[in-house]
Amino acid sequence: MRVINFNAGPAGLPQPALERAREELLDFQGTGMSIMEHSHRGKDYEAVHDEAISLLTGLLGIPATHQVLFLQGGASQQFAQIPMNFLTPEKSADFLMTGVWSEKALDEAKYYGKPRIAATTVMADKRYTRVPKQAELQLDPKAAYVHMTTNNTIYGTQWHTFPEVGGVPLVADMSSDILWKPIDVSRFAFIYAGAQKNIGPSGIVLVVVDKEFMAKGSQNIPKIFRYSTYAENNSLYNTPPTFSIYLCRNVLAWIKSVGGLTQLEKWNREKGETLYAAIDRHPDFYRAPVEKESRSYMNVVFRLPSEALEDTFVAEAKKAGMVGLKGHRSAGGIRVSLYNAVSVENVKTLVSFMDQFVKTRG
Ligand code: PMP
Repeated sequence: MRVINFNAGPAGLPQPALERAREELLDFQGTGMSIMEHSHRGKDYEAVHDEAISLLTGLLGIPATHQVLFLQGGASQQFAQIPMNFLTPEKSADFLMTGVWSEKALDEAKYYGKPRIAATTVMADKRYTRVPKQAELQLDPKAAYVHMTTNNTIYGTQWHTFPEVGGVPLVADMSSDILWKPIDVSRFAFIYAGAQKNIGPSGIVLVVVDKEFMAKGSQNIPKIFRYSTYAENNSLYNTPPTFSIYLCRNVLAWIKSVGGLTQLEKWNREKGETLYAAIDRHPDFYRAPVEKESRSYMNVVFRLPSEALEDTFVAEAKKAGMVGLKGHRSAGGIRVSLYNAVSVENVKTLVSFMDQFVKTRG
């Protein structure tokens, strides 16, 4: 029996995507071997690879100005690879600081150029409980790019209106909210996202890059780190993690089959609203630290009156078939990740558990 999985990443995958992998595992489409055992240069694998790219292009409405790349090294490698490509010691980039992942991105940029904090919402206790407002941004029009984290997986905050950054290229870490709803890709020069939340298993980082921006990348770094190398070779410069890309294909095909991002947004909004309503109707018991306008629809964080009660909550939820509810080790509390594989029904089950928990322990 499968549990209800609220993990923050790697996260639950849509069951139909896994079932398809099970059916095709030993014999992929009559070839007598699994897709993992195929050459990445063969037509069978290449068809899967191209299908994943074309599904993503269709789902996100990626314009012809942009290109999809599959890279490795996790989103963390992008923290370093982006400045490696687009910064030099004299150049600066603006960072919008909204959590631990923005901090890590900024730290890596120091090796290549001058990162500058253009906004921050850090509190005295080192936490972040909201994202900045447009009026708070102190942008440098000469910056090489502006870097932002669209959803803050640990603190449970999310940008609901993307910032206006003038003509400066906008670079976004969308690891934890890509594909949660339709977005206007043309607003971004560079989008990146680790796959292991909303796209597929770990091992792949999705990049969507504006080709003109990519062309400005340094030629003075090893080929393997240049985005143009991946672009020129359809992300097949060297051997990609073929099985991860295959599973991403299955997830993307599932998203398309249920109605694409418009349908996912409806479900995701219902999930988030149902859960926040449960928190808000017991304000003396559940406490959501995030300011309302910045609440995330992907990672919902809240506290109970004591750490002991939080431990009991996690343990009892597990007995009821729900896992992955413990907050990030640096933040504590409860964190419920509501990525695309979590259904509205799953959230209703959690909410009944929460209402009952207040009755018995409140
Ligand atoms: N950015 C965000 C927003 C994340 O949530 C994470 C991982 N949870 C990362 C970056 C780091 O990703 P990876 O482990 O793939 O390097």
